[in-house]
Amino acid sequence: MKELKLVSINSRGGRSTVVEVEGVKVGKDFTIIAGPCSVENEEQTLFTAQKVKEAGANMLRGGAFKPRTSPYAFQGLGIKGLKILEKAKKATGLPIVTEVIDPRDVLWVCEYADVLQIGARNMQNFSLLKEVGKAGKPVLLKRGMYSTLQEWLNCAEYILSEGNPNIILCERGIRTFETYTRNTLDLSMVPAIKEVTHLPVIVDPSHGTGKASLVEPMSLAAVAAGANGLIIEVHYHPEQALSDKEQTLNPLLFAQLVRKVRSLHEFMKGLEEQAGSESR
Ligand code: PEP
Ligand code: MN
Repeated sequence: MKELKLVSINSRGGRSTVVEVEGVKVGKDFTIIAGPCSVENEEQTLFTAQKVKEAGANMLRGGAFKPRTSPYAFQGLGIKGLKILEKAKKATGLPIVTEVIDPRDVLWVCEYADVLQIGARNMQNFSLLKEVGKAGKPVLLKRGMYSTLQEWLNCAEYILSEGNPNIILCERGIRTFETYTRNTLDLSMVPAIKEVTHLPVIVDPSHGTGKASLVEPMSLAAVAAGANGLIIEVHYHPEQALSDKEQTLNPLLFAQLVRKVRSLHEFMKGLEEQAGSESR
């Protein structure tokens, strides 16, 4: 692919990157990030965090700054939300993944975030990409909803060229003519990415489908496609969620998903090992 230097698979001689977040090795161990779309209050976040931890999640997600399509929709709690996430981390030990939407916020958000999320709407916000590149914290870079693979990887190149190699790519669906689903989850990107870059890639079936009923089947499909992990929206009472309730799982459904996903991942690993020994 043209213009790609540092993100190219050739730049690391074919070796894949493992992004380490407080002992969680993204790109090596299958990583499940879960939590509410938005941090709403302390009880909601702490309770949900405890539940996803018990179910086997590796990191906690939660938005304190929400990039909403409507200016009248809930915009997030800001600094108050980050302080709630800090408490949730203390209580559960789960590292925090949270979105940053303004370059001016990057440095101080780093005091609370273990992974800085760049949302689909901001994928090509180049001043934001440069700031997170300089900040040095691991970055979760979502695919823009109208972006090609080449455009997406160029954004990762921006971050890498500022000296930050700790990038996790996230396929979260793109806009197509289909309206039954919120987005069209482009799982072909998972093996495609692995052909061209050394960076790990995870899948977001919550935003990718917009429907809670489709999250588990697409999570399993993501595992089969070779994803390095998942990011999933979970809320202790999805019907009361202030954002994205239609695509949010309750803790029980999430726990079932984790069991199935982890056993499918083990099965896939077995198949890989078998294929490896046959070809030797
Ligand atoms: C989110 O993760 O809550 C979010 C807003 O995702 P995206 O940027 O993929 O729409
Ligand atoms: Mn959301």
